[in-house]
Amino acid sequence: MRQRRVKNLEAKYEEYEDILIRDPAAMKGRWRERSLGRPVYVEIGCGKGKFISELAARESDHFFVAIEGNMSVMLRAMEKIREKGLTNVVFAPEFAEDLSDWFEYAEVQGIYLNFSDPLPKNYWYRRRLTYRSRLLSYFRVLAEDGTVTFKTDNTGLFEWSLLEIMAADLKVIEITRDLHAEVMSIEDPEERAAFNIETEYEAKFSGLGEKIKRVVIGRNDREDSDNMNTSIAAFNGRNIPELSDSMKAAAVPDEKGKAAVSGSLFGSSKPKSFSEIICTPGRTEAARLVISNYSCPCDRVLVSSAHDAVYDLIAEDLGRSVECFSVTETEGGADLSDIGYRIQKLLRNQEHLTVIFDVAACASELCTSPAEILGEICRVLNTVDLSKKIAFLTDIRAEDAAEMLGEDGLRPADGLRSNVLPLISGRLPGSVYGGQGSYVMCLAYSPETAEEFIRVGAFTAAAGWTMGKN
Ligand code: SAH
Repeated sequence: MRQRRVKNLEAKYEEYEDILIRDPAAMKGRWRERSLGRPVYVEIGCGKGKFISELAARESDHFFVAIEGNMSVMLRAMEKIREKGLTNVVFAPEFAEDLSDWFEYAEVQGIYLNFSDPLPKNYWYRRRLTYRSRLLSYFRVLAEDGTVTFKTDNTGLFEWSLLEIMAADLKVIEITRDLHAEVMSIEDPEERAAFNIETEYEAKFSGLGEKIKRVVIGRNDREDSDNMNTSIAAFNGRNIPELSDSMKAAAVPDEKGKAAVSGSLFGSSKPKSFSEIICTPGRTEAARLVISNYSCPCDRVLVSSAHDAVYDLIAEDLGRSVECFSVTETEGGADLSDIGYRIQKLLRNQEHLTVIFDVAACASELCTSPAEILGEICRVLNTVDLSKKIAFLTDIRAEDAAEMLGEDGLRPADGLRSNVLPLISGRLPGSVYGGQGSYVMCLAYSPETAEEFIRVGAFTAAAGWTMGKN
């Protein structure tokens, strides 16, 4: 915010010691004492305080903590509070980082982000106040039913933030892309006034003709599942309709077909996991099934550096991006340390990760046997924090890829821990649908995961089949 330097800032601040919180971390766990039991609301980046002063005047039963890193503009906000004689607002003159340094879990009832800096350069995205890990940090201090309300005129920032909300596995409770039109449509004057309080930036940008957008964010209210491998589709509560029998018949092979695929991979000994198979019209749909159901928008998908372009195209199409892990070959053998490093790095920022190992592409570029690479990937996956969900796809699209892996090549994938869902995709054997199309097989840890894989997988695949047949 542009603001002329205020002379003798510190001297002026002295007049406001009673409403200044100089050491917010020291207040952690004690805010209710300060608020005299009133619920606590936080605004990050209060600017000159138009919003917070009007809100606090209206909601005298609530207590407000206004945070602002720019001390000159914050002075204006404190003046407003003093002028109005309000006693339910305090100020923290700092740039907030992780709110859980300052507040205990459930100590905050609501958080307001008004016209937060868009930080337009791409490499600043982590500092935006609606970046996924920031959003998650707010919910570390919010009450169970607490919310974050975010307003902006900036369309790019708004749409980006919506994807961050999804990536953080949070819920959009209320959304409008033209707040002022909505306000105007409310007939009752009191209700209308309560629906929105304009901020300084809001008045300025709406005056310039920009539409104001607002979203209210909450926790997902589904029960947290113990089953770590529920697909993202189900996890986000996407409504998956019942499939008709004919659609199911297209996407799910019969027992004979299932046995044929399983036999081509595991010989006569069955996998010990709960395995299910979905048929897709082709490899593109198999890739789409895995990426769309097991990663979030904005996620990075980790793919072996040698891989078919279909993964880049599908990831791009679905709003994900691709990062590669490399296998370097030295005289002593293969070095697979890169994959461990990348998995840890990506999981710092995302709760879900799809890892793809393209067997045929790797085998054509490397001397290391695909079975050795797969074994190493599985070893690394077994060390990942159990709270992170991973889908691990082994792509053996080429006819000879199963041979490349060798008889017991897929065994390590059949013994992964409960947070990893192993998937295999390949071309259907000649005996299934005449070898037309591809399949995705899951090796699930529990029958529930396998069942869920069928439900969302058939849904994704059926759309492809129907289109293919028309
Ligand atoms: N909310 C006001 C001001 C918006 S400008 C309005 O709508 O009119 C964004 C403000 O947020 C700036 O004043 C900036 O100093 C402040 N800000 C940005 N990041 C912050 C952070 N992490 N903690 C506190 N204030 C922050």
